Amino acid sequence: MPKISAPNVKIPCASDAIAVEHSAKLVRHLIATRKIKSGEILILEKPHCSILDQRSIYTYCSHCLQISWTLIPCKYCVYAAYYSELCRDKAWNEYHEIECSIMGFLLCFSVPEQYWLGVRLTIMISQKGMKLATLKEELAHVDRFKGPHTKENSNDGKFCNDQYRNIYTLPNNVGSSFVLKQLVSVLWCALSICMIGRETEMFGKKMEVNYTFTKNPHVIFVGELMLRNVDITLMKATVFGASCRSASYDHGLALLALCRLANHSCDPNTIEQWYTDHLALYAAYPIEKGEQIFRSYVPRYIVMEKSTRRGRLQDRNLMCECIPCKEDWPTLVTYCSYKQKAVTQEAKTKIDAFLQQYLVTHSDFLQKDITQNIPNIIIEVIKMIELLHNLVQKPCSELDMAVTMLKDLYAAADIVYDYVPVTPPGITIQCLVFYASLQHTLSKN
Ligand SMILES: [Zn+2]
Ligand SMILES: [Zn+2]
Ligand SMILES: [Zn+2]
Repeated sequence: MPKISAPNVKIPCASDAIAVEHSAKLVRHLIATRKIKSGEILILEKPHCSILDQRSIYTYCSHCLQISWTLIPCKYCVYAAYYSELCRDKAWNEYHEIECSIMGFLLCFSVPEQYWLGVRLTIMISQKGMKLATLKEELAHVDRFKGPHTKENSNDGKFCNDQYRNIYTLPNNVGSSFVLKQLVSVLWCALSICMIGRETEMFGKKMEVNYTFTKNPHVIFVGELMLRNVDITLMKATVFGASCRSASYDHGLALLALCRLANHSCDPNTIEQWYTDHLALYAAYPIEKGEQIFRSYVPRYIVMEKSTRRGRLQDRNLMCECIPCKEDWPTLVTYCSYKQKAVTQEAKTKIDAFLQQYLVTHSDFLQKDITQNIPNIIIEVIKMIELLHNLVQKPCSELDMAVTMLKDLYAAADIVYDYVPVTPPGITIQCLVFYASLQHTLSKN
């Protein structure tokens, strides 16, 4: 796993290069506090709460998301398995004791993961119902603050991604088009609460689900909170898993308090990489001081047409105003080389010379063991990104290819035994393809 070399005093999981800002239009968002180099790590965040998808529950630990072929199953159900007994006990103590009794029943109804994540989060933050009074007080305290910055801060002024209030106060963009979704959420939450009341001791003892149950103040509080949490997970959960070039191998969903503050762009200035249970956010391009930090919540413009992207974004009630959308940039399939761009002859010569030299170095790496040379290739690819970013106006195929290559290199730099193709042979093939593409570019007039 990578490390943040210059940690942020106010945001422990981030580098000192970013800050949380607020404005009326953008609400809370992330900005660069200094000039950032391409490839720099900006955030290394562990999710507040996560959940595996059904396909992954027998391959990854349900608690720490570690891959294992010898998982230890839950003692009482077949829906959770763990890397170690320690993970099993932790999960049990934090949430699974409640989940375990209701999972089988709810899975018969094929409850989607977003709802499960909202249910798990509610169980976790109330400490399986034991902390309801304190939680109620804490949230009432958070609700009383109207100022933009106070909400994300803890008492010592730090932004801690493991504090629920930072998830609770994530900007909510649920609109009127979500009435149907809201109705479905209400139904799922009502069903979950009834099952929790009947089958577990979350409200002190197992309860009869009748009129008195629906009037119980603890039940009403947990129900409302669960509904809010489900709203948050529907809108804000991030898919996690491995990714390689345009393909991704999803394992589940996670809630990230800090990374989720970055707004969307179809050409984000960051690339992201999951390392088991941490999301690393790297700078894709050089970023100027004061510039906003963007992530992409749908596949980037190079791999997905504008109309499809916009449809996906609409599901999250997002309207994208990024330059690729405004100018209708083509996908990478449409060749958009620096050679066809209105750049000066001097710039072209500079790029040509750099790429020629790069091919020599790269070919040298290819003849040796690629996996041993990943850190050196990363340095060379970053140089290429910086050069192209400074000299060519986007969109530029070579720049996009280099950013994609950088992401794959970061994925391969921290290989764990896994069955996704970001393995040593995978990265060698990608390096070969990258080499061939650049050679092809240079051979054209
Ligand atoms: Zn584990
Ligand atoms: Zn269980
Ligand atoms: Zn866009």
